[in-house]
Amino acid sequence: MVSSTNGIPKESLGKDIYIVSRDGKSRWVIFDCPKGHGKRIEVNLMRSIKPYWDMDFCDGKISLYPSVAVADDKCDCHFWLKKNKAEEAFFEA
Ligand SMILES: [Zn+2]
Repeated sequence: MVSSTNGIPKESLGKDIYIVSRDGKSRWVIFDCPKGHGKRIEVNLMRSIKPYWDMDFCDGKISLYPSVAVADDKCDCHFWLKKNKAEEAFFEA
């Protein structure tokens, strides 16, 4: 857990998941794309900014709701983060 994005390494985060927390509030969850596309994913937890996600932090493990979808040249991942693990998500047909 870090207090600002300055505390997060610029290089690959590997499988580390960072929570940016300030004034007792979690603001961002930041991690690299779980499929190794090299895309840094920044998930907003603040309700003042849309879209925002709900985080469940339990036993040191992070779950996010709803699913995280990335639309990027090098990364088009769509997954659920459940207890620190990414589970592939599918759009309903
Ligand atoms: Zn990806």
